[in-house]
Amino acid sequence: MKKFLQKVQAILSLICILGISCIGTGCSRQPEVYNSVDTAMGTIINQTIYASPKEAALQREVTGEILSRIHLLEKDYLSWRLDTAEIYQINRSAGTGQAKVLSDKLAGILEQCKAVSAASDGAFDFTIGQLARLWDIDTWATMQATDSGQNKRFVVPTQEQIHLAMSNSQIDALGVEGNQILLPAGMQLDLGAVGKGIVLDDAKEILAAHTEVTGAVISAGGSILTYGSKPDGSCWNVAIVDPFDSAGSLGILKLTGQCCVSTSGDYERFVEVDGKRYHHILDPATGYPADSGVRSVTILSDSGILSDALSTACFVLGVEEGLELAQCFQAEALFVDEEGGIYMTEGMHNCFVAN
Ligand code: AMP
Ligand code: MG
Repeated sequence: MKKFLQKVQAILSLICILGISCIGTGCSRQPEVYNSVDTAMGTIINQTIYASPKEAALQREVTGEILSRIHLLEKDYLSWRLDTAEIYQINRSAGTGQAKVLSDKLAGILEQCKAVSAASDGAFDFTIGQLARLWDIDTWATMQATDSGQNKRFVVPTQEQIHLAMSNSQIDALGVEGNQILLPAGMQLDLGAVGKGIVLDDAKEILAAHTEVTGAVISAGGSILTYGSKPDGSCWNVAIVDPFDSAGSLGILKLTGQCCVSTSGDYERFVEVDGKRYHHILDPATGYPADSGVRSVTILSDSGILSDALSTACFVLGVEEGLELAQCFQAEALFVDEEGGIYMTEGMHNCFVAN
């Protein structure tokens, strides 16, 4: 619960920074702002939609449509838990020797994931499912809630267990040909690193289909989409969380039009055992939480799936190689290292305003 409240707190502070202070209060100057907060895909979805003053029903409809799409993405495609999802079914086929036929949607997603995986030399690896299950990342939040951050039930995996899981997490062993996918025994896919980014790309599609929408900000966990413009023409202000104090911010990005911003940070999900912190971004080369000297990476891109995949990959690679990788994909990047140093690409520098 503490972790959940921290997240709500972080999002509320983000909303304040965005300057959307009239939401739902009947403020007469900007009645066209509509805001909704929901939970989906295991995270908080915050939507702010701008349209002409007469379009309140439409704004509700748009936020409802985006929320339904997020539920559908999880239920039909991305979940490794729900038996209705394509990823779940592909994972079940591992080792059967039977190739599965990919939907066009998932084939497109995997193609982009493979490109980031290849360019990052495997630092981004969506075949990491066995390793992620071994580390039990998805249960940490509930463990922390009961143990106030000092987790007593989590047991750090042994080196032997890690080696075994690593041998099943080898992207080179994945067979994808055309729209067919073949998983070797033991391999499990995990698209946890790109799910929120995919949400942003789908949200863009829905917003574009509603021409009455003049602007929007959609946030899904650590990923944020800005779309269109504000009624007063000012920039979108997206806060960058301070990894040393996740309720605060380091500064803001001043953005115009359509942008996708994703952050991966070691403060987002972690457990502490005997005073040592284990976070949720794994280095496929070691099998342990990445130890590249960074605490958070923020990526700015036109594409949600790319911003999300790259933030994870760059976190694993660290500052130097991460900056190179981001530039390969025409993305902007900002790194915060363990000493609090901030490193960024030139394009990021042009829109970042420090506190
Ligand atoms: P993010 O917070 O976007 O960086 O995504 C982290 C999530 O992606 C984790 O909870 C895992 O499910 C998964 N993951 C962890 N490490 C990696 C990695 N190196 N490559 C791909 N996915 C990963
Ligand atoms: Mg990511």
